[in-house]
Amino acid sequence: TQSKLTTQKLYKIIVIGDPTVGKTSFVQRYVQNSFNKNYKGTVGVDFALKIVKLSETQTVRLQLWDIAGQERFTWMTRVYYKDCHGCVIMFDLTNKNSFINTRKWKIDVDSKCTRPDGKPIPCILLANKCDLPYRQVDQMEIEDLYKEHNFIGWTETSVKEGLMVDDSMKFLVDVVMQQD
Ligand code: GDP
Ligand code: MG
Repeated sequence: TQSKLTTQKLYKIIVIGDPTVGKTSFVQRYVQNSFNKNYKGTVGVDFALKIVKLSETQTVRLQLWDIAGQERFTWMTRVYYKDCHGCVIMFDLTNKNSFINTRKWKIDVDSKCTRPDGKPIPCILLANKCDLPYRQVDQMEIEDLYKEHNFIGWTETSVKEGLMVDDSMKFLVDVVMQQD
């Protein structure tokens, strides 16, 4: 019999947002628990796989898609969004433009990516670089955007300090699994 064989769920999570907000650093931090301030993005899409242990008997596999370079040129193609289960949209608290563009990213995701039942995919909003002074975005603005565009949640993060990286992903994965 194949009683011991269980299929491990695989979820595709895309990480999007303007250039230099910290997307690649976020994936690296989450998957490898490392931070490299000299990381240079390559052009294309990078994948990272993380196996998350939920309990003694249950694990899930997360396939993280990190756009590298392409975000400078155009909005993403449908191929990139295809069959994704969850989404991270990131901006940089010290870069107002990256916050303004968050709205466009969300609209782009919602127009190109829906779950089989037609609902939008769960999307979390991350306000990165909270370790830095001189913020250009205040909490009220973030709160308004989060509500208006139906994110499942938002939080400040510091990928550099490792703040709220695991917690935010856990929150997202929980919602993804509930809806699955
Ligand atoms: P991407 O273009 O969105 O993939 O951004 P990167 O991950 O390449 O990061 C761009 C720059 O921001 C790099 O120099 C990172 O070291 C830096 N960075 C990323 N996250 C943080 C953070 O939380 N705090 C600070 N101070 N710098 C960060
Ligand atoms: Mg990058």
